Amino acid sequence: MRMPLIAGNWKMNTTVSEAVKLVNELRQGLDEIDNVDRVLCPPFISLVAVRELIKGSSIKLGAQNLYFEEKGAYTGEISPLMLIELCEFIIIGHSERRQYFNETDEIINKKVQAALKVGLRPILCIGERLEQNEAGLTAEVVTKQLKSALVGIDDLSKIIIAYEPIWAIGTGRAATGKQANQTISLIRNNVSQLYDKKTARDVRILYGGSVTADNATEFMQQPEIDGALVGGASLKVDQFLSIVKQTSEIRQVK
Ligand code: PEP
Repeated sequence: MRMPLIAGNWKMNTTVSEAVKLVNELRQGLDEIDNVDRVLCPPFISLVAVRELIKGSSIKLGAQNLYFEEKGAYTGEISPLMLIELCEFIIIGHSERRQYFNETDEIINKKVQAALKVGLRPILCIGERLEQNEAGLTAEVVTKQLKSALVGIDDLSKIIIAYEPIWAIGTGRAATGKQANQTISLIRNNVSQLYDKKTARDVRILYGGSVTADNATEFMQQPEIDGALVGGASLKVDQFLSIVKQTSEIRQVK
């Protein structure tokens, strides 16, 4: 059985003191919930402080980006070696990085390889744009993104995939549970073809895109959906706790 996972992507929100406050408000509530992996992904500069705060708790830590080189003259960048001292997970291929920072499939593949090399666990994001969705190209787009991101990678056991339709991110216009389940099922089939049935059965695939406390149950009830990557709602204590709690409750009956 796949353990559900809820990851909060704080994006470029929270100063260090705000991040500390948010974790302090989340920690006890999260620790009271079972059977869900819960990962917080604050901005880089808060990783050290958050890491101290979550010691001994159920919360796991992730970063939002990395550069693929180990070290050197890359002013302003953060390397996999720097991150593995601080956190376990790393978001790679988020559509905002593809869109605003020109990250190509090739760059994303290099990042996945670099992360795995040091033992970081990638949360690999794939998803189609609105016009691609409307043109019926979703399957083609996510298949290409998945294949490109996984070039040269033999072992998927450390990777989590997040299906994030771009039209649903930060828009308040979530996919329906059924739509998300259908595309995630397709992604799982792709994994089966690229690797094997067992790998496809074991890999965790999340949905992301305007998940809130109001729609979390709809997504978590779907058989192929193993959790969520949550943006906006992860900054609100009640919302995030409720999403993790609903996931835990559904997991008991799934
Ligand atoms: C995200 O940042 O990955 C995301 C899904 O954002 P939101 O939940 O705000 O749509």
